[in-house]
Amino acid sequence: MKAKVAINGYGTIGKRVADAVSAQDDMEIVGVVKTRPSFEARIAAGKGYDVYVNSKENIDSFNKSGMEVRGTIDELLDKADIVVDATPGNLGEEYKKLYQKHRVKAMWQGGEDHALAGFSFNSEANYEDALGLDFARIVSCNTTGLIRVLYPLDKKYGIRKARVTLMRRAADPGDIKKGPINALVPDPVKLPSHHGPDVNSILPDIDITSVGVKTSTTLMHLHAVNIELKETCSEDDVISLLGERPRIMLINSKDGIKSTAQVMELAKDMGRPRGDIWENIVWKDSVSFDRGELYLFQAIHQESDVVPENVDAIRAMLGLEADGGKSILKTNKALGITA
Ligand code: NAD
Repeated sequence: MKAKVAINGYGTIGKRVADAVSAQDDMEIVGVVKTRPSFEARIAAGKGYDVYVNSKENIDSFNKSGMEVRGTIDELLDKADIVVDATPGNLGEEYKKLYQKHRVKAMWQGGEDHALAGFSFNSEANYEDALGLDFARIVSCNTTGLIRVLYPLDKKYGIRKARVTLMRRAADPGDIKKGPINALVPDPVKLPSHHGPDVNSILPDIDITSVGVKTSTTLMHLHAVNIELKETCSEDDVISLLGERPRIMLINSKDGIKSTAQVMELAKDMGRPRGDIWENIVWKDSVSFDRGELYLFQAIHQESDVVPENVDAIRAMLGLEADGGKSILKTNKALGITA
């Protein structure tokens, strides 16, 4: 029997997780929660997802627009083994009480604090620690992208210190409220940014400091990563280590991929749903050592890199697969990730 997954918050992340769950053979979507009868709600219903509302007061607006809803979130939670909460940040505390009332396992996204779930998840770094947990948090797109690079490097060569500059997209492409901006915005002005401590919620022993700048783009984030390793290795060693990772795609600027715009074009040409890139995109020709320190550039697709991690976390928390490596490969195969 397939595990039953509910999605609360069917927006940028929620709708992608719903489709990724549906692509797996050991789990299925039992319903998604919407607040309004938006185009996303209609498309969800068209895809065959049962649509539920977040409160009784909102049922009227669905009825008036001619959209059928299956019930309220309370009814959905009673049918689910686990709920993926992808509501906007800071609603988590309130919803946690509801999930506890319905005795359903729950996972949140990076907009919530680590303390809410008490456990932050990354598929390669700590899958086995999530086995059977009731609550977990999938760290943000940026933190996920950083851990995918830092974890294997630390495991193989040891990291003495990591210093990261995050050039962040100012908003998601559909988020007209936040953009466009015609500026580069130090964010936050007071250094360092929260991304270093967030990495430490999963890899507590890494000495990492980060700074962030909001940029006039909606496409992707770009990370400039500088690492001092404990053991000596070559550029080729780093390239082959990262190239073997299940969710890192190495690209080369010589192939004409010189920017995040061309990475997005690559995703579309690959036929990826919504033009998503679930993997970190590391420029192979950026991997360099200068005065003993490692440097590289990577691009992170903010809307989708956390999606496969959500699927793996469901598998771990429900005990569907004990081996993290196997879950990663299973998720990747179902999504078509061949990195
Ligand atoms: P979003 O605004 O695109 O989607 C949130 C959805 O939740 C919307 O459909 C909204 O209508 C719905 N919603 C609002 N109030 C609700 C309520 N009370 N009950 C149920 N649903 C409600 O947001 P998002 O970008 O998908 O972000 C969701 C979470 O994922 C946040 O924690 C965010 O920090 C995190 N995250 C976002 C990104 C990204 O780039 N978008 C990347 C990684 C993690």
